[in-house]
Amino acid sequence: MYYLTVEESLRKYRPERVRHSDVAHGRIDRPEYSSYPCVEKRQGAKMAGHIRAKGKCPVCGKPFIEIQKLGFICLEHQTVPKRLYIDLPWHGQRIRVFSDKSGQVLDSYDRADKLSDRIGEELENHAFDPSHYVTAEASKFWSKNLLQRFLEDKSKVVAPSYRSHYKRIVTIAQDFFKTQDVREIRKLDVINFADYCRESFTWKEKSVKNAVDILKTFMNWLREDLEVITTVPPFPTIETEEAPVKWIHSKDQSKLFNTVRDEDKPIVGFLMPHGCRPGEARALKCKDVDLESQSMTINATFSAEVYREKRKGSWNHLFVR
Ligand SMILES: [Zn+2]
Repeated sequence: MYYLTVEESLRKYRPERVRHSDVAHGRIDRPEYSSYPCVEKRQGAKMAGHIRAKGKCPVCGKPFIEIQKLGFICLEHQTVPKRLYIDLPWHGQRIRVFSDKSGQVLDSYDRADKLSDRIGEELENHAFDPSHYVTAEASKFWSKNLLQRFLEDKSKVVAPSYRSHYKRIVTIAQDFFKTQDVREIRKLDVINFADYCRESFTWKEKSVKNAVDILKTFMNWLREDLEVITTVPPFPTIETEEAPVKWIHSKDQSKLFNTVRDEDKPIVGFLMPHGCRPGEARALKCKDVDLESQSMTINATFSAEVYREKRKGSWNHLFVR
């Protein structure tokens, strides 16, 4: 049986590494499965665990062999594994890491090697948390997934007229944060998100602030409703200019009132002297009016075409003029 030299076989898929490697030029005649503790592999590197190949040679079904520092291969069939993983002992458990924190699978030896380095550093700093790595676990913390859940949850409670706007902002946040782990969102990310909104949509500060406020609601929801984070990062203050209120002079008011269609005059005439919103006036019912005390209570409002009761404590008491 003829085997390529290690250099010949590896040049086919990792030429750049072979050139710099110190692989011996001898023939390998005992292709047997092996894996090496990565900790011993490089001087000074803080590698963790063992890199292993997932699966076997698709031609012969034998395990791939590991050529240290270079990768796995079936020398006979020139096949390499499509997936690798890091096998790691941790607190008496055996953890298998198949992807990095962003969910990128370990599809090359180089990627697995770099991740092993990173985990090594985290272990040294006591910052290693396997739930950040193991894919099924990690995707539970992806911003885009949790934002989706947030939207579904909030759609039930936000005003119907506000829903499509809410959805738009959440979609923008999903595009921005993607698979970032929500537990790793910091103030800097929020600042970058605000900049992204400013630049991508040429929004005014008021709209940017609104988007950032929704993001803050999301972070609070993560902490209070889901308990997946313990602290909400400090949010940047976004200065907005209050639009000056443009009052209509009473003379102009009566002129305008005369142009209102007759059938609309009662409601417009009611709104003019009372400080309530059109949606609130539309939602008034007989029971809300107290003729005795000449007052009425706003305890519901229309949002788009939906009648909504106000929450306790947000009622408004008006005196009939
Ligand atoms: Zn093979």
